Parts: sequence; C-alpha cells; structure tokens
Amino acid sequence: MALEESQEQNQLHFLIIPMGSPGHYIPTIDMAKLLAQHGVRVTIVTTPVNALRFGSILDQAIESGLPICFLEFSFPYKEFGIPEGCESIDDLPSLGLASALMQAYRSLQTQIEQYIEKLDPRPNCMLADTFLLWPGDTAKKFQIPIVIFDGMNCFTLMCNHVLHLSKVYESVGDSELFVLPGLPDRIELTRSQLPFTFSSTIKGMSDYNEKLRVSESEAFGVVVNSFEELEQGYVDKYQQEKGDNVWCIGPLSLCHKDESEKVQRGNKSSVNKNDCLKWLDSQEKGSVMYACLGSVSRIEPAQLIELALALESSKRPFIWVVRAGHKTEKIEKWIDEEGFEERTKDRALLIHGWAPQLLVLSHPAIGGFLTHCGWNSTLEGVCAGVPMVTWPQFQEQFYNEKLVVQVLRTGVSVGAQKTSGLLVDEDKPGELVKSEAFLKALEIVMEEGKEGEERRKRAKELSKIANTSIEVGGSSHRNMTRLIEDIKKLSKK
Ligand code: UDP
Repeated sequence: MALEESQEQNQLHFLIIPMGSPGHYIPTIDMAKLLAQHGVRVTIVTTPVNALRFGSILDQAIESGLPICFLEFSFPYKEFGIPEGCESIDDLPSLGLASALMQAYRSLQTQIEQYIEKLDPRPNCMLADTFLLWPGDTAKKFQIPIVIFDGMNCFTLMCNHVLHLSKVYESVGDSELFVLPGLPDRIELTRSQLPFTFSSTIKGMSDYNEKLRVSESEAFGVVVNSFEELEQGYVDKYQQEKGDNVWCIGPLSLCHKDESEKVQRGNKSSVNKNDCLKWLDSQEKGSVMYACLGSVSRIEPAQLIELALALESSKRPFIWVVRAGHKTEKIEKWIDEEGFEERTKDRALLIHGWAPQLLVLSHPAIGGFLTHCGWNSTLEGVCAGVPMVTWPQFQEQFYNEKLVVQVLRTGVSVGAQKTSGLLVDEDKPGELVKSEAFLKALEIVMEEGKEGEERRKRAKELSKIANTSIEVGGSSHRNMTRLIEDIKKLSKK
C-alpha cells in the first residue's frame, strides 16, 4: 500500500516494545519495518546501545521515508547492577545477570507510561514482547489494544499449551519418552528436553508461568513469526484455542532484501562483507556447511572442540561462527594453540564473533546449516532452503528440532538428549555430544544419495513457499493486512 494512501486513511500508530535479547529484538525490528511498509506509523521503544546495535538496520528504510521512529530511554544499569553498555542478554558478562536485565527492562514501564500519558491521540496498538509481562497492565490503563509477540512458532505454542493442560510430564522420569497429547503429529520428548519453564525446581517459575498465561489471555491477539503453510495443523489448533486473533506474519527476516541491510542485522558483523562474499563465491554450489549456534548459548570449550573436530574430519568446506560468551577466550586459545585455523584454512572460514547470518545463508554455496534450533535461525534456514543439522541447546529448541526433523523432514539430529541448563547455571557442564555424532549427522545432510536429494528438494520447496508468503497475495501478507484492519476496526469503535 502506498504511504500517501495510508496517510489519507488516518494513519494507524503502533507503539512497539521489544525485549533485550537478539532472538527477540531482531524479529521485532523486522516487524516494525514490515508494519511501516504496510503504511502503519511505528514508534519503537529502545535504549541507547540497542538503538545503535539493532536499530541501524532501519536507517535505509527511514531515509526512504518509511514512518519509523525510535523513542529512546536511558538504561538503568547502576540501579540493577548491570555493567555499563550491556543492554542485551548476549552482552552480559554472566547469564547470572539475566534476571537483573529483565528487571531493568520492566523498570522502563513508568517512563513509557509518562510518554503515553502525553500523547494525543494515543497509539492505536501496543505491540510488546510477551516476556516483559507489564505492557498488558499499561495497555489496560490507557485502553489501548495490545498484541503480544514471543518470538516462537505455533508448533511451540501448542506444545507448551498441551503440556500445561495435561501435565503429562509430571508423572515421567527425566529421560523417559512421553507423547505430547492432542497434537497433529505423534511428538515424543523427555522431561529433560523441555523448556526450563516446566522445571519444578526453579524458584518462582510457576508464578512466572501463570503471569505469562494471564498476559497472553488478556491480550487482543498474538503475532507469530511463521507462515501458515509451514505448520498449518498447528496454526489451526492454536487458533482453535486462542480465537482468530493469531496472525502468522513471517518469515520476518525476508523483509530485508539488500545485502547492505542483511550484513548489519543484529550486530556489527565480525567479518568484512566483501571478504565473506569472496570466500563464499570461491566455493562450489551447495558445498558449504554453515555452523552457528545463535546469540545466547555459551557452550563449554570441550564441547565446541568436539564440534570443531567433526567439521575438520568432514573434509568439506565450512563456516564456523566461534563465540561462547565468557568462554570464548578459552576456545580461541585452543584454536590458536592447536593450529586448527591453520590446518583448515584452505576450506574453512572462521568468523570470530558475530556472523552476517542472513547474508551467509542466502548464498548458493551454502549446502547445510548446523543450528542450535533457535526459532529465528531455524526459520532463516527454512527461508534459505537448506537442510539442517539440529543441535538444540535449551528452551523451546528441542520442539523446533522435532518440527524440522520429524514434521518438515528437512533436518537430521545430532542426538542431543537434554537441555544445557545454561539459563540456570551457565558453568555446569551439560551432556557431551561427541564429534562422531556431529560428523554422522553432517554427512547424512550433505550426502548425494536419494535420501539427501529428497531432503534438499523438500527444503527448497519450503523456501519457495516462505518467500511467496510475504508477497502480495501470500498468506503472511494477508495476515498482516488482517491485523492492521482488525486494529483499525477497534480504533473506530
Ligand atoms: N545471529 C546472527 N549472527 C550471529 C548469531 C546470531 O545474525 O552470529 C542472528 C540470527 O540470524 C537470528 C538471531 O541472531 O536472527 C538469533 O536468534 P535465534 O532465535 O536463532 O537464537 P537465540 O540467539 O535467541 O538463541
């Protein structure tokens, strides 16, 4: 829709409130761009470091006239004992500070309410991260409809839902497989693979879960970074539970078409764009395994060594994004002292820090993606049309693995058995997945036989559908229009 047209129609205003984790901030910023492309005026609540880090991707969009602005509040580092400059979970020196970070985000409520108080007219909609919890109260106070976003897919939302209702996990041992009841597919998991929100041992968890459920049930609706064709049965089920106000509007990452945008998504890239593209250009089509484990996971160096050795013994070209939070130094030392980079330099690109993931994944040289199954990465892998090696770490990542390996049949598991417990104790060593397990899954994904070809074909087909879904007439485009119309109708009332 042309911008002028939307302005004539009394432009809607969305107030967007993201949360400080790349897996949440990045898609929220994408969503702001998409909304603005649909003629909505958006204001994104942010803080200084996040504005620079996550916001710069919108510079081009704003320059081109899209109605996006940032509302910046100073971040209360001192008050919550957070080191200056750390506004996102992956910047924290220790994940022990994660709950202080969440509290700091919650403390912005007063300032945001003071801002809304002065606004005339009030925003037509608040679009906020589910995990913040407080935006629902603010929305109620100012009688603004609120739409929530938790960064996950309908498959995950339904898994959580049926587990919550059935409590089936309560009567099984930690490593005993059980079926999640009432889902379109027979999905089996163990208790050790469930998100930590199902833990009975973590203090305050049931209270937090209850608050999440209340804020979800009180919201006007839920936006989902997914597309209907990917998980239709689960979208239908979720809509049966929640009503029509579930809008699948993804894949959000597809709103960035330019290389220059892709390269700065989420952080400053640790590799020069041209060097990265030159390296990829020099590789054969579909030959490279890209290994990246998201933004939050801080994997033990001993475990990363197993992964590195598998990548090396595969004898295939690979990109490995080396990052392990405060443990990075140790793994970098191993890489250096053991001569790993030297040994593999003729067929490997090591990215030390932040990878321009969208840019890498969209290159034809990429033939497989070894992922920790964070939802953004998983969906970006789907969009790129590449099969995946799945190595879930924590939270809903084991669900995502099931979706990819069992339902979509575009991935092969390395066979991880339990969540890493990272968000509870980042230094407690988890299970050790051996290099043989990585190598086996990697070879299956990259193999040229019939099974591999069929997996690749399925991945390519899904990518095509994903790309069509956000175009005019596609399911996600229609859902975005429906969301905007629904808010418009409410505003008229
Ligand atoms: N990401 C990236 N470069 C990196 C690491 C991560 O661009 O080196 C992006 C990735 O593309 C995704 C997000 O960061 O959009 C990570 O979100 P995800 O849900 O995959 O995992 P999380 O980091 O939340 O575990």
